[in-house]
Amino acid sequence: MMKNFKLGILGSGQLGRMTVQAAANYGISCHVFAPDVKDSPAGQICNTLSNADYTDKIALKKFYSMVDAVTCEFENVPSIALEMAPKECIKSPGITALKTAQNRLCEKDTAKFLGIPTAPYWKIESIDDLANAMRFLDSNAILKTAKFGYDGKGQIRTKTGDDPEILWKEINTDIAILEYLVDFKSEISFLLARNIDGETIIFPPTINYHDRGILVHSTAPAILPSNVIEAGNDYIKTMADHLEVVGLLAMELFLTQENTLIFNEIAPRPHNSFHWTIEGCKTSQFQQLIRSLSGLPFGDISVIGRWHMRNILGHSKEELTKGYKSSGKYVHEYGKQKTKENRKMGHITWNE
Ligand code: AMP
Repeated sequence: MMKNFKLGILGSGQLGRMTVQAAANYGISCHVFAPDVKDSPAGQICNTLSNADYTDKIALKKFYSMVDAVTCEFENVPSIALEMAPKECIKSPGITALKTAQNRLCEKDTAKFLGIPTAPYWKIESIDDLANAMRFLDSNAILKTAKFGYDGKGQIRTKTGDDPEILWKEINTDIAILEYLVDFKSEISFLLARNIDGETIIFPPTINYHDRGILVHSTAPAILPSNVIEAGNDYIKTMADHLEVVGLLAMELFLTQENTLIFNEIAPRPHNSFHWTIEGCKTSQFQQLIRSLSGLPFGDISVIGRWHMRNILGHSKEELTKGYKSSGKYVHEYGKQKTKENRKMGHITWNE
């Protein structure tokens, strides 16, 4: 590792916070850049902070004069913030990966191009597009905004016979995607780390349980037929190599009743469904991210037992109290100053 290696983080949320924690254990200091950095989950514990807008070129220039690598802790960071990084700065996840993950259509088109199965979908830019697409639909579907959607936000479930004009008004965007509703048995996520030399390592997959589009519970490693794991590993490696990801890439997939995988989306950053790796893997996703950017070798990803992770959402303090009282539970609070309904405030993990 480079002497006095300094990591820059664009974004100040819990994923940044856990990255800072992992970096500290390796003696690496972090500089967090965000418009709301003060008292933020990552801002509270980092070494240096820049409180500026992601498009503030002067502030970005100063930030880049102080870091050796930069990583985005959420995918909706305006791409200009990453594009401003000088040539010698290691960029994670990379500009193509970031831009692809910012657009649901772009990520689905990329999956399709690479031969990763997707549910049938249509690009929607007008009421006419929607009306046309709905003519082909013989089942229920989901209309999603192409950009800035997360945790089930910007999504409407549609039925055959729904009025396209009302739906288009409700989704309130200029570009959307209409996709078939997959009749899935479960939701699975895969996670890969890729370093600057293009070497990769893949964590064992996780099974996820959502409530109204928000992840509530994960169990890992997912018990799946070996051909399903092989297919998922192949899809995520193909995608990571194609996008030349540096750092982490998560892929969410549906497992159908017939045990096939269907692509849902990617996230080129640490993923909520792999928080169990902090206690459950010899090297966590955050440590692997730091290693892939700082030139350290990948760590061992052997799993110690079977793990559960539960998100603490909004005001659900009860879970936290139970977590603190139980000896076998690991509690993580993110230090968020404001509690909002369904906001991720922390998580708890435990070994089965
Ligand atoms: P997303 O933001 O695309 O991950 O969607 C949030 C959640 O909505 C997913 O985790 C699924 O539970 C559900 N969902 C999204 N797209 C589909 C689909 N095409 N078929 C069935 N369920 C879906």
